[in-house]
Amino acid sequence: MKEQLEAIQKEAISAFESCLDTKELDNLRVKFLGKKGLLTGILKQMGKLSAEERPVIGQLANTVRSKIETALSDKQKKLAESMLEAKMKAETIDITLPGKKNKLGSLHPLSIVENEIKEIFLGMGFEIADGPEVEYDYYNFEALNLPPDHPARDTQDTFYITDNILLRTQTSSVQVHVMENKKPPIRVIAPGCVYRSDAVDATHSPLFHQIEGLVVDKGITMADLKGTLEQLMQRLYGEECKIRLRPHHFPFTEPSAEVDVMCFNCHGKGCRICKGEGYIELLGAGMVHPKVLEGCGIDSSVYSGFAFGLGLERVVMRRYNIDDLRLLFENDYRFLEQF
Ligand SMILES: [Zn+2]
Repeated sequence: MKEQLEAIQKEAISAFESCLDTKELDNLRVKFLGKKGLLTGILKQMGKLSAEERPVIGQLANTVRSKIETALSDKQKKLAESMLEAKMKAETIDITLPGKKNKLGSLHPLSIVENEIKEIFLGMGFEIADGPEVEYDYYNFEALNLPPDHPARDTQDTFYITDNILLRTQTSSVQVHVMENKKPPIRVIAPGCVYRSDAVDATHSPLFHQIEGLVVDKGITMADLKGTLEQLMQRLYGEECKIRLRPHHFPFTEPSAEVDVMCFNCHGKGCRICKGEGYIELLGAGMVHPKVLEGCGIDSSVYSGFAFGLGLERVVMRRYNIDDLRLLFENDYRFLEQF
């Protein structure tokens, strides 16, 4: 029986040593130490032993059991450690792998130039005003001296929500809101979307952007208008940039002018881009019509003002030499990534 016990001890210890996972180890525990295990099986035969042999074998059996138990618990610890190690290894971050590229967005060219223009005007003491894109006929036309039958309404055909409510055709509507709510001195610009019922082509879009400017104070003249616009254009296109005012007609300004800017390409000499003119038409401007001032409750015998409306797309196209307006609205990455 002594040999049997020693054999079980040897077998158990070597079986534990070669065991590779916890489940197998548990099976071995049952096999050697369990109620129906090998060691218990031997101890059940103790009754057959003589009185002298029994304590000797009993002691040996205890020693064997404790040795097997120690070996088992050592192995359990080892397995737990190696499993943890394997888990850590599996979860290690491989810093040699190429990283994921996060695509960084950039501002749309319209936003870049709009922000730049806002900065220039803020520097000149202007405030930035905002107004609704869905507008009453009154603010878009009537208050700007364009009564219902005025022919100029034809050139500003737009999208109507009702007979009386429309998508604004010009940011000039913001002028009226500002003058209704604020007493002079007024110095504001109002950038925003405007709408016209135009078919899309290289120079037309049913949606585009304007920046409206309005100054109302005592003693404002055309000279202030010209100086302000000259300052704007020189900041946008360089110190040597000149502007030129040509007489024109707008219902809401009197006198009115179209403003040309010296060609950025030929600097006034005349080239293909300016069609030999040396200047390029960029915006409309004028002195606020007394009727418009009076309509907003401003005494036109005390105050005068100037206003201008600048097409943002034109400035952007000029700035970046873009020859097709549609590029600004198609949202083609290949185009937009260049800015
Ligand atoms: Zn030119």
